[in-house]
Amino acid sequence: MKTKTLKKNKVNVVTLGCSKNLFDSEVLMAQLKANKFEVEHESMVDDSSIVIINTCGFIDNAKQESIDTILRYADAKKEGQVDKLYVTGCLSERYKDDLETEIPEVDAYFGTRELPRLLKTLKADYKHELVGERLLTTPSHYAYFKIAEGCDRPCAFCAIPLMRGKHVSTPIEDLVKHAEALAAQGVKELMLIAQDLTYYGLDIYKKRNLAELIERLSEVDGIEWIRLHYAFPAGFPRDVLDVMKNNPKVCNYLDMPLQHGTTKMLQAMRRGITREKTDALIQEIREKIPGVAIRTTLIAGFPGETEEDFQEMYDWVEQSRFDRLGIFTYSHEENTHAYSYEDDVPDQVKRERADAIMELQSGISYELNQEKIGKTLRVLFDRVEGDYFIGRTEFDSPEVDNEVLVKKADGYVRIGDFAEVKITHAEHYELFGVLV
Ligand code: SF4
Repeated sequence: MKTKTLKKNKVNVVTLGCSKNLFDSEVLMAQLKANKFEVEHESMVDDSSIVIINTCGFIDNAKQESIDTILRYADAKKEGQVDKLYVTGCLSERYKDDLETEIPEVDAYFGTRELPRLLKTLKADYKHELVGERLLTTPSHYAYFKIAEGCDRPCAFCAIPLMRGKHVSTPIEDLVKHAEALAAQGVKELMLIAQDLTYYGLDIYKKRNLAELIERLSEVDGIEWIRLHYAFPAGFPRDVLDVMKNNPKVCNYLDMPLQHGTTKMLQAMRRGITREKTDALIQEIREKIPGVAIRTTLIAGFPGETEEDFQEMYDWVEQSRFDRLGIFTYSHEENTHAYSYEDDVPDQVKRERADAIMELQSGISYELNQEKIGKTLRVLFDRVEGDYFIGRTEFDSPEVDNEVLVKKADGYVRIGDFAEVKITHAEHYELFGVLV
């Protein structure tokens, strides 16, 4: 049953998972466009004859979402709504053989480093001259900026090295060129991402070279905000703190997943750091960069986590007062080191522990936001929603952190512009204010 005419050379790219996957989809889309394909990202129109799903294979929930999405498009293909269906990304890298057997409706599966083969399958050429060029899927004034691929870390719970391979830094010269191309198309904010941002350069420059990279990117005309995501605590390069302190273009914001608040669990997770060293690093960061917003990510229910361990983490979160925090429930991933441990914390308990931490954090976020009332903050406006212009301060990354809401009735600001906002009211994850 074919209900609508499908456009022969039109591709709908669907992205699941993290910002690094989104980056890869944007690179794929630029290559397709250069090969004269009409390309859309997560199109609602559904008249694309070709669908490419860029999957996530990180943990249970994410894997299930990827499988459900593949099945949905496999059904659409059976109903003649799609001609060709291709799957790429982490889930495909990790489970290709199983997927080929279980969902044969997919025309072909590709790994995370198989863009040239994917393009060849579509009778398209891989255009080397385009390397780094992307079709942005984010609002045109900000972009995720992947500086390296893969990871050399041995974290016990993590399957990412299995799907993304060893750490490979992109040379500074190439990254500066990419940033210039993005700035030329109106990008003002770069979210620097990698599996482990602070490992940057150890492979190609034989030293941690993130600080130099940030300085070079900050010299690119048009780039006004540089935001650091996925820093690793162990071996944290202190020269990055100097750049954050002295370079006005670097947001006073640091995303540093810490995963747990007890030395016992950090050691079982093979994080290469103790709780005491973690606290010392946080204190050093806060002393060096007063007012810095620290975002972190934790795991609840890692094998062997007792009620006492959890309580110790709970108290640590209460004392540490992170500005932004997210938490996952532990997912028992085959072929990771932790898969050899017994997954002894019941799912219900994992969930309860994660919810308790988020409940605690919601209160901390509310209290910290009250301190912003009366302050005037520089805000980058991302969108209009209902009666409000909605933006972010330098302390907030898109989609995961707080937002600033300004009533449309109180004035006008162009999306993609910065404006000064005086904060008049604050909620748990939202600030309200007026343009000044
Ligand atoms: S740093 Fe650890 S958690 Fe992060 S991607 Fe690498 S192995 Fe996984």
